[in-house]
Amino acid sequence: MSLPTTGTRTPLRVRPVLMYHSISPSTGPDPHRLRVHPDRLDRHLRLLRRLGLRGVGLSELLRAQERGEAGRLVALTFDDGYTDFGEHALPVLERHGMRATLYVVAGRMDGSNAWDTGPQLPIMGADQVRAVAAAGHEVGSHTMTHERLVGTAAATLQEEVAGSRRVLQDVLQDDVTSFCYPYGACDDDAVDAVAAAGYDNACVIGDYEPGDRLTLPRCYVSPRDTAAHLVARMARHQLRQHGR
Ligand SMILES: [Zn+2]
Repeated sequence: MSLPTTGTRTPLRVRPVLMYHSISPSTGPDPHRLRVHPDRLDRHLRLLRRLGLRGVGLSELLRAQERGEAGRLVALTFDDGYTDFGEHALPVLERHGMRATLYVVAGRMDGSNAWDTGPQLPIMGADQVRAVAAAGHEVGSHTMTHERLVGTAAATLQEEVAGSRRVLQDVLQDDVTSFCYPYGACDDDAVDAVAAAGYDNACVIGDYEPGDRLTLPRCYVSPRDTAAHLVARMARHQLRQHGR
């Protein structure tokens, strides 16, 4: 994947940002390989701790980086806002004293991942989203309807990017500063819309090349990733980002 470049944006090299979706013990079909078992998430976080690392939300990682204090941090991100995050991911995160960013599809609260051809999973309602923030995690926007933001008309971009920020800020009565592009897909217009809407940071899906603050790469975590896989993914990220 190649990221858009306007020529005016500055590459930002960051610590690994891990990307999860559904966290559930379900054994139903998972055609897009987006469901990680809570026990596996537990093993991943235990591994981070063994390595002396701590998981935080993406905005927290960036703030720590600005202070030169991100050396032992990785960002944990969970896409779409499934109710199973509250049921199965929150307890695991809490057990390990870690935080995360949850990217909510703002126009699908109390609905499901209707954009997806796979199994339909319920998405949190406003109360559940507030509970995630109250537990100390970051809530970011993942658009209104999970539209692919490439070649998108200006009015749609405005609704998906700025509109979703407004909805979530209303729900949380707080600032929403982090954005996540559906499918990791964006073009210059989408990035410009994210900047214009007032977000501080945004992430794609990594090929690990440094993006800028509004196109930060992330590491996909597979349902079958063992501790060794995760170490390899983070090492690869570090190599691509920092050349060492
Ligand atoms: Zn998504």
